[in-house]
Amino acid sequence: MAESPYPMLPVADALAVVLEQAAPLTPIILTPARALGLTLAEDVRAGEPLPPFPAAVKDGYAVVASDGPGDYPVIGQVTAGRMADFTLEAGSVAYITTGAPVPMGADAVVMVEETVPLPEQNGVGWVRINTTVAPGQDVRPIGLDVQAGQTLLAAGARLGAAEIGLLSTAGATAVRCYPRPRVAILSTGDELVEPDQLPGPGQIRDSNRAMLAAAIRQGGGEVVDLGIGRDDQAQLEASVQRGLREADILLTSGGVSMGDLDLIKPLLDHAGRVHFGRIRMKPGKPLTFATADAGGRRTLIFGLPGNPVSSLVTFYLMALPAMRRLAGHPQPALPQVQAHLAQPLALDPQRPEYHRATLRWDSRLNDGRGGFLAVSTGSQASSRLLSMRSANALLELPQGQGELASGAVVDAFVIGEFESIL
Ligand code: AMP
Ligand code: MG
Repeated sequence: MAESPYPMLPVADALAVVLEQAAPLTPIILTPARALGLTLAEDVRAGEPLPPFPAAVKDGYAVVASDGPGDYPVIGQVTAGRMADFTLEAGSVAYITTGAPVPMGADAVVMVEETVPLPEQNGVGWVRINTTVAPGQDVRPIGLDVQAGQTLLAAGARLGAAEIGLLSTAGATAVRCYPRPRVAILSTGDELVEPDQLPGPGQIRDSNRAMLAAAIRQGGGEVVDLGIGRDDQAQLEASVQRGLREADILLTSGGVSMGDLDLIKPLLDHAGRVHFGRIRMKPGKPLTFATADAGGRRTLIFGLPGNPVSSLVTFYLMALPAMRRLAGHPQPALPQVQAHLAQPLALDPQRPEYHRATLRWDSRLNDGRGGFLAVSTGSQASSRLLSMRSANALLELPQGQGELASGAVVDAFVIGEFESIL
């Protein structure tokens, strides 16, 4: 039997090799609107305090707090967006709306619900104040929400909706962020046809390219589509070279096993440096990782196995963390939780297995404190993409004999959106 010349690396060692080769990309400058989902490459500070003036928290009347309850003339009004053109004297009040600057002389706001309008006297409105307020009541002092010079966002922050709002508060119209990694995908195999084609004899549709493109976009990358490559050395070589020119990461699928037409490993050996060619994991053993340097730039290359499940599992476990590191993500590795098996699962005697499962929160677990329950997606054949349908986690089953009992606790890598595990 032919033996692979590549040593079989444990998954953790392989991931360490990958992350060692992956460095954050050179930051670019973007408008906040285009920075959603990216990681910030600089600190953002507030130039001015917020609010920049003492602001009313409620609609009501600006008062001198020590005046107390009683009937008072309304000597003016101030609405949001304008400064008062008067100073409030003790013994009078001014109408004020939420967000408006509290006029000079006033030190509190009485909300309108605690007041009663009275008839005008000599063309001046009057109001009855029914309550006592402390100085500062319903006034946001200068800088309450944000102080001048305060760091609003630190380098490494992931930009979501609230962070984009803070950029607007700071008046940041251009921010330095790590760009989305460009990730090229190349399907390989003489048997593959495009999804819109009717497969001929011996052919199947290419599922991996569309699937990986989706996973790349979900992971924050930009897709460079290299199409389907035939199992032909010269053609694959040309496609790989194009990938190296155009992308930060190149993913090939197929052609990394031990068959005569598995051309990818020798090709990557020629194009760059192969760091590993086998991993101790199931599925995904033939995953190959290489790097190639050209024009001062390094491209990471993942030769993913062709079986659709192997392809997607190795993408999540190895290529996605690399993508995240390139994108400046502070935590490139996949999030991990512990989960309780909903059913017994057989172990593989040779390799740890990444068993596809659907996690959900079950409040009865852990004596009522709650925990994740892992329900297997069924038959785990590496060709059966249905085993990934609605999977939001990969259970890390240790290599071993026999099976893990129902209820056993295992580590699980979360591969879906966080809300999918709740
Ligand atoms: P390979 O890694 O090229 O030996 O392929 C392993 C298995 O995965 C074979 O059954 C292939 O037909 C299948 N396969 C390879 N690439 C794809 C693809 N892009 N879409 C669907 N199946 C594929
Ligand atoms: Mg093939």
